[in-house]
Amino acid sequence: MTADTITAADIRINARWLIPIEPCGVVLEHQAVIIQGTRIAAVLPVADADRKFRTRETIDLPHHVVMPGLINMHGHAAMALFRGMADDLPLMTWLNDHIWPAEGRFISEQFIADGTQLAMAEMLRTGTTTFSDMYFFPEIVAQSAYDTGMRAQICFPLLDFPTVWGSGPDEYLSKGESLIEAWKGDDYIMPAIGPHAPYTVSDGPLAEAVALSERTGARIQIHLHETEFEVAEALEKQGKRPAERLAKLGVLGTRTQCVHMTQISDSDIALLTDTGAHVIHCPESNLKLASGLCPAHKLMEHGINLAIGTDGAASNNDLDLFGEIRTAAMVAKVVANDAAALSAHKALQVATLNGARALGREDELGSLVAGKLADIIAVDLSDPFIQPVYDPASHLVYSNHGRAVTHSWINGVPQVQEGKLTRIDVPDLMLRVEDWARQIRQQQAD
Ligand SMILES: [Zn+2]
Repeated sequence: MTADTITAADIRINARWLIPIEPCGVVLEHQAVIIQGTRIAAVLPVADADRKFRTRETIDLPHHVVMPGLINMHGHAAMALFRGMADDLPLMTWLNDHIWPAEGRFISEQFIADGTQLAMAEMLRTGTTTFSDMYFFPEIVAQSAYDTGMRAQICFPLLDFPTVWGSGPDEYLSKGESLIEAWKGDDYIMPAIGPHAPYTVSDGPLAEAVALSERTGARIQIHLHETEFEVAEALEKQGKRPAERLAKLGVLGTRTQCVHMTQISDSDIALLTDTGAHVIHCPESNLKLASGLCPAHKLMEHGINLAIGTDGAASNNDLDLFGEIRTAAMVAKVVANDAAALSAHKALQVATLNGARALGREDELGSLVAGKLADIIAVDLSDPFIQPVYDPASHLVYSNHGRAVTHSWINGVPQVQEGKLTRIDVPDLMLRVEDWARQIRQQQAD
């Protein structure tokens, strides 16, 4: 051992357990993660780290499991302000009679800024480091995520009809293209194209979305086959299943993320495998709105990349991705009639590396591997509700909820330390949230 073998680095995390995700199915013990700048410099046994690295900061996590940050691949962040406002209703009643009127009344730049910050506070506290959003004023969401230091895919909305954000498809597409240009090459913010659903966007704008994606490399995210009604109505009106119509328009491809997919035929599976499109599974929203269940295990068996999302807090009603992972694992077993379907380790991979794949950033995100960006979380397993520990992976999926997350880093920057948010002023945020809630309650009462 000589002095010249010692490398200087920024942060060293000493973990009791470490789940790197790559390779899948592995739990390591007494490992150190070394962060240099924005990236992971090394993952190695603690004893080796003592010999090889000197860091300016060391964090000991003797009761914790350390893993890559979670990737929440679908949501409408600012809808956090509508959490619990209207429950126990079928999708179209919920949208027509509650969500859309409230959106019409309240959505503004300030509502989006405050709602997005509330969502980010919850996501960060529960282990998410990257999220995908699809909502109005995407430029505000992008700035808000950037200012907080959260990684985010920001899907600008595309619909046939006017909304608070634009007069129609032409304006959505031109504003969307400006958003893509504005964040070109940014590490944190990934603008994407968000055609709402096949039943709200006609062929012309969908074709233009494909052209924009080809021109810029932006991802496309679309709600697809969310309910049986959606598929039946399309068959009646257009003579095709929505996925088939999208495939004919060129919408399905390796840059496309199909959200929900609760209705799946063999021909749909063939389209997904042939085109390389990704599926974003949102089981809790599907359960709560009685939309149906996505056959997660079957899709994965066919080699389709499956990632996971919470959907908005108005249809979930939380953004805790650990809860979503647990539901996904449970539901997969019932749907497949096989208790081995979607194992704990596979479920963790769905919420990390598979999300990175859907974003096209699997070389940089989604696992704890030297060279990747330092998006890391730690979960404390010392609480009675997750004791004793035989298998940390089992606990993360079947026993944990996100509030056991104590630390997170994004791009090597601390976001949660000892369970506290470092970059969001929570008391100030709560004042703004309560002000919105007062106005929404007033409208509900009128
Ligand atoms: Zn959604």
